[in-house]
Amino acid sequence: MARKFFVGGNWKCNGTLEEVKKLVSTLNAAEVPSEDVVEVVVSPPFVFLALVKSLLRSDFAVSAQNCWVRKGGAFTGEISAEMLVNLNIPWVILGHSERRLILKEVNEFVADKVTYALGQGLKVIACVGETLEQREAGDTMNVVSEQTKAIAEKVKDWSNIVVAYEPVWAIGTGRVATPAQAQEVHSELRNWLKVNVSPEVAESTRIIYGGSVNAGNCVELAQQPDVDGFLVGGASLKAEFVDIIKSATTKQG
Ligand code: PEP
Repeated sequence: MARKFFVGGNWKCNGTLEEVKKLVSTLNAAEVPSEDVVEVVVSPPFVFLALVKSLLRSDFAVSAQNCWVRKGGAFTGEISAEMLVNLNIPWVILGHSERRLILKEVNEFVADKVTYALGQGLKVIACVGETLEQREAGDTMNVVSEQTKAIAEKVKDWSNIVVAYEPVWAIGTGRVATPAQAQEVHSELRNWLKVNVSPEVAESTRIIYGGSVNAGNCVELAQQPDVDGFLVGGASLKAEFVDIIKSATTKQG
């Protein structure tokens, strides 16, 4: 079965109440391909999750940007997977490079979070990706496969995971990976899943690209056979996010 194109919008730590409402109105008014063609998920900061969920069109879903690694309790400042489930938030982004690098979340911790969130019934956008230094040292696939391996060692069912390949050097920098660079890593990652998990998981798991995707570069990236969609940061706060969603039609026919 073909992998459905997936477009996620990571709003990160941005937005006022007014800006969030305006962005949701823009999305609600947009003409985009049907749900059969593209799955759209937007990820506002925690404080706006319930509001966005209540206002957003029903064919788009909402995601949290993180959650606690285990059951909630005495963990000041954290939000548990159970709370997201309680609010009917279906998705969570885990292992984003900003959390790996700034908040020092290591592979095992991210894998524990993925396992716990899946166990609570959430769907997970699991992020992997190398730094510029690692790429220049020729370590891209080692890094990306180690990050994926940590998850694969704990997770048996991949049906609720989308893998986001996000080279750190491309995130928020305006320096997008070339379509060939993205395709190379996506294809190697898919092969890693084939060899180390199963051919079925490799074939069905969506591997999306993130890192300075915009309206101008999304179509060429979407044309790559192993690019199954995007995780979009900066451009997801702008009307051009709609054009990125529309790039899903590139996969048809
Ligand atoms: C991201 O943060 O996931 C991201 C891809 O950001 P940007 O599109 O701004 O590079």
